[in-house]
Amino acid sequence: MPELPEIETIKIGLRKYLIGKKIVDVEVNIPKMFVGKKEDILGAKIVNLKRIGKGLIMELDNNFVLAVHLKMTGQLVYRDENTKSQVLSKKVGGETLPSKYSHIIFSLDRGGVLFYNDLRQFGWIKVIKKDELMDVPFFKEMGPEPKVGDDIAGKELTIDYFKEVVQKGNLPIKIILMDQKRIGGIGNIYANDALFKAGIDPRRKGKTLTKKEIKKLYDAVFYIIKKSLQYGGSSDENFVNALGQEGNYQKHALVYGKKGQKCPKCGSVIEKIFLGGRGTFFCPICQK
Ligand SMILES: [Zn+2]
Repeated sequence: MPELPEIETIKIGLRKYLIGKKIVDVEVNIPKMFVGKKEDILGAKIVNLKRIGKGLIMELDNNFVLAVHLKMTGQLVYRDENTKSQVLSKKVGGETLPSKYSHIIFSLDRGGVLFYNDLRQFGWIKVIKKDELMDVPFFKEMGPEPKVGDDIAGKELTIDYFKEVVQKGNLPIKIILMDQKRIGGIGNIYANDALFKAGIDPRRKGKTLTKKEIKKLYDAVFYIIKKSLQYGGSSDENFVNALGQEGNYQKHALVYGKKGQKCPKCGSVIEKIFLGGRGTFFCPICQK
């Protein structure tokens, strides 16, 4: 599932192409994925893009916004005359767009097209009144998140809040990190790597962590997320950026996806277990 760095990468990429463009038409091929009335957005101009946790928001120049949740395999890819020579990743479902995964297609003015692709079809796009966005449970309940870019649209994850949420936690620390209501934006890839970076066993209950360990983990979360942003996100699964190209974090992951391989710190073998149903990778020597 795309996490904070992937959605942030898409947001930054799309800002360059979408801001100032008008929505001329919307083609919806799978109705359950588009919630709301097309008429509310037709003719409106896109004025900004924001991200809250793993959610993306396109602000329009009328009273509406388009909120997007990519869930497991969603993609937002922009094409026009100037970008059509860019080679698309195979992950978009074909050599050209639309592909077999293009379920919602926005035609914009000046020849721009925005494709919403989704292999597994769990994602959604909702037309929401601007002043009702924060009433949508997904956004309303989103926990504070690490501020990594210049701007933050959600609540900011401070060290004090992080300490409190970890110390209160009666669950394994990895599950706390991934709980979007407690902390926004972190999913499986970055929870695994942040815990490795901090030297903490993912199975330990939050409340057993010392203040020093909590600070180390807080710093590790920022370190890993910033590192992923520098590599343009992780395309371990279906993620592509705004131009349909893959990120590179997966080539630099610390322990995620590395069962049976050598630990980058001590050389012993990385193990895989399941925690809360999710694959959990860790070094039994380095992580205490
Ligand atoms: Zn190790």
